[in-house]
Amino acid sequence: MATTKLYLENIEAAYETKFSAKVIKSEEDSIVLDRTLFYPLGGGQNWDEGIINGPNGSLDVLEVRGRDDISNKLGIGHQLEVGDEVIGEIDWERRYAHMRMHTAQHLVSGIAYELFNGVRTVGNQINTTHSRIDFNPISFDEAMLAELSTKTNEIIASKHEVTELTMMRNEINSIMPPERTNMDLIPKFIEELRVVKIGDSLDLCPCAGTHISNISEIGEVSIISKKSKGKGTQRITYELSNSEFLREKSSNII
Ligand SMILES: [Zn+2]
Repeated sequence: MATTKLYLENIEAAYETKFSAKVIKSEEDSIVLDRTLFYPLGGGQNWDEGIINGPNGSLDVLEVRGRDDISNKLGIGHQLEVGDEVIGEIDWERRYAHMRMHTAQHLVSGIAYELFNGVRTVGNQINTTHSRIDFNPISFDEAMLAELSTKTNEIIASKHEVTELTMMRNEINSIMPPERTNMDLIPKFIEELRVVKIGDSLDLCPCAGTHISNISEIGEVSIISKKSKGKGTQRITYELSNSEFLREKSSNII
């Protein structure tokens, strides 16, 4: 039995922080739950941290990994057993920073594609204080980086909503070039995809990360550095200023 990913159910589910679950697998230093709000490392986004409260008290979640079975590393001697009922709670500040950073990455990648001759996003790392995007082929100069951040911040100021929906491959490709959405890299046999949409069709991206529900929550994007990674690839690092539209968590147990 795979873990149900509660944070993927809709855009608002990403704002939930507290959930009940049952232990379905117990190993020396980790457990798997039947359902979870803990996001595992993946798609460039770092894992959620937080706590799991079980019959023997509260344990810190040190690492979260996996695709089907999501494994929570708790350390040796956690004492949780299959069948135990637990309450999990994610660290909201860390998660919300990832949601803002991740949604900013979609925007920056899409805008760079439009501005710079279809440049591809070939990698990304989403962290709390700064995040990175690798582009190829590109050779950024200062004016290009300024143009990229100005355009991104103009679009953020338009306060578009972010939605998540299921779409068919052909439908996605009819709206946006597959090189922009990276659809050309997704195996052909996958017909139906979870897509993150900004505005009406400002940006579309197949993605299983966590995102904010309105781009105004990003605040302002500042590109703080660029670095060559060789063979036409450059890495930019960005930070976010505090937003006046920061949202509170929704802590209901779901
Ligand atoms: Zn995403």
